[in-house]
Amino acid sequence: MPDDPILGLNELFKTDERPEKVNLGVGCYLTEAGNLPLLDVVEEAETRLSEKKLPHGYMPMSGIPKFCEAVKHLVFGEASPAVVEGRITTIQTLGGTGALQLGAAFAHQYLGVAKAVVSDPTWGNHIAIFKGDGLTVSKYPYLNAAKDGVDFEAMIAALNEVEEGSLVLFHACCHNPTGVDLSHEEWRKVLEVVKARDLLPLLDMAYQGFGDGLEEDAFAMRLFAESGIRFMAATSCSKNFALYGERVGALHVVCGDKREAEVATSILKALVRAEYSNPPAHGANVVAEVLGDPELKKRWFKDVVEMHDRICEMRRALAEAGEAEGADLSFATKQKGMFSFTGLTPEEMDRLREEFAVYGVRNGRICVAGLNHRNVGYVAKAMATVLKAR
Ligand code: PLP
Repeated sequence: MPDDPILGLNELFKTDERPEKVNLGVGCYLTEAGNLPLLDVVEEAETRLSEKKLPHGYMPMSGIPKFCEAVKHLVFGEASPAVVEGRITTIQTLGGTGALQLGAAFAHQYLGVAKAVVSDPTWGNHIAIFKGDGLTVSKYPYLNAAKDGVDFEAMIAALNEVEEGSLVLFHACCHNPTGVDLSHEEWRKVLEVVKARDLLPLLDMAYQGFGDGLEEDAFAMRLFAESGIRFMAATSCSKNFALYGERVGALHVVCGDKREAEVATSILKALVRAEYSNPPAHGANVVAEVLGDPELKKRWFKDVVEMHDRICEMRRALAEAGEAEGADLSFATKQKGMFSFTGLTPEEMDRLREEFAVYGVRNGRICVAGLNHRNVGYVAKAMATVLKAR
């Protein structure tokens, strides 16, 4: 079986001895110094937790209640009618991946959903997860021919053809791998189709805060919740809390009313029980501690703004350095979030790696958060050289 294209790339990168090497294949936010951050607020929450000297007991199957409440509020807003009416059940999961898996299992085993539809392109694991849960997977068009925006007409036309009742995966913000998101107006149109065709949306939000901000990135979630439709949402604290290895995420099932949400909770708990029994404690306790303390929460908001601003700065720096090299790298400033689609072919991405030690995914995706002021000029020059050979 071939290596995962992204993880395999990291292995290759590690063994590359060229000092100028740059890893843009990663799926993590890196600091200007090129390191994974340990957020101050996470460190402080961990100190507080260790001082409590808690024993390592089992967690509830649905997760730590304080964590679930806090992330529900972060995603949908505390005052959201759906939250206030108790229509949303939130279950702690093994990262965003675990949320997607649990959501797919719930849809297939309990709701009898047989088909899933994902954007073309999408994060590769979506397809693997859904297939693993017994769903057949097809794609709806997403990217336009110039690869710098959404082909919205084609997307809507395809969604109108999707079999009623199918699960449809949407990226709520910071589309991975393209960095191209829908406008508010486009989301409203998508919602109309979802309603008309009785589709079951699963909104994936792994990068809340990295696109336009914590509140702004939740636009689609809140729009769908306010519309009264039933849908699911998978969210993750891996990136915005830099808690990658702690596996902290949540599945939210937005139901018709409180009673339905209670039924959904008991079904989700039964699925969890059979799969892994109960979730890990540490990461979720850290998030609950940060979001439960107004002062820490305020500082975390600032941390997210800082990560967001650094990504935007690197986008600008790449486009400017490209211009100085005579190459159009303006895709970087048109797109949002941690990833960008360069529009480079697999062969051009190979050349970047082989000749310049610049590592990106063969589909043309680069992680903008892997750029810093020391390497951005070099990367722009390498890309310009490859582009000029066209
Ligand atoms: N969804 C998308 C689009 C992602 O890119 C990722 C991670 O890269 C995830 C979900 C899952 O994140 P986690 O590490 O929390 O499982």
